[in-house]
Amino acid sequence: MSQAPDYPLELEPEDLSPYRRGTSGVDYVHSFRSPRAGPHVMINALTHGNELCGMRVVKRLLDLNIRPVCGALTLSFANVSAYQCFGPKRLDARFLDRDFNRLWHDDLLQEDAQTIEARRAHEMLPIVRTVDRLLDLHSTWHALKPFFVLPKLAKTRALADALGHPRRQLFLPGIRHEGYHLIDYNAFGQDDAGAVALIVECGQHFARSSVDNAWQTAVRMLQVCGMIETAVAVNLLAAAVVPADSAIERFEIVQPVIAESDHLEIVGSYAGFDAYPLGACAAMDGQKPVLAPFDEAIVIAPRPSPAKGQQAFAWGRRVA
Ligand SMILES: [Zn+2]
Repeated sequence: MSQAPDYPLELEPEDLSPYRRGTSGVDYVHSFRSPRAGPHVMINALTHGNELCGMRVVKRLLDLNIRPVCGALTLSFANVSAYQCFGPKRLDARFLDRDFNRLWHDDLLQEDAQTIEARRAHEMLPIVRTVDRLLDLHSTWHALKPFFVLPKLAKTRALADALGHPRRQLFLPGIRHEGYHLIDYNAFGQDDAGAVALIVECGQHFARSSVDNAWQTAVRMLQVCGMIETAVAVNLLAAAVVPADSAIERFEIVQPVIAESDHLEIVGSYAGFDAYPLGACAAMDGQKPVLAPFDEAIVIAPRPSPAKGQQAFAWGRRVA
């Protein structure tokens, strides 16, 4: 049995107050427009307040004065209120009132003008509505191997393929039991609309390597969407070249695993994506083994210390 590991705080929260006054009219949201026509690309950080790698990457892009050669570029810090509560005693400052990344549906937004996260979503909504390509930068509690999270749409998969880093793609199930992500909002989730959005999970929340992963994907996004010249991208990538590993692997979620006790522990590594043969023991839920329900079952996204009744991880499978 492997004990859930502790993770050192390799990244420090930084003062974002110099970035408060955005150029978009919305605090912490910076938009830059080129005179040449082109898409509106958004790179967003801090959808979750304790996910520091995105903050570092968006801050670096702002410090470098990156400007789009065509279209428009928006660089944003979303849930700054939660982020400002982050610290060694509040490592879990993911959100304050409700998860900012579970409310992106017009019905849900209409119902809520009160919570901190819904108010922030309402502020950002006029900008989000005009975005053609969105990269939402995230990280995970466990040191998962980096992966994209995306709806199972051909247009989104094509963007993930073009970005090329990371090499793992996790397709969301069709039904959103827990609510709607920013990348689900309106046109992003519609097959016949042009707008495309995806999440990249860059590694452990507090790991320096997560910044390198986030940087690599963000710069590729700028390059692939025509925001910056290739030569500029090559220069920017030189700061953090992550070795490209192997072929693209795609996964889909088959079923959640709900903890039946307060002590569910993974048997193998907490890096995720381990494959188990049918009937193999992947976790111990108290005294009860959690067995792979089918052959080549993949452990997806183990969560930190799940309580009884909470999702501990999901079973997934590879897809072509
Ligand atoms: Zn997140």
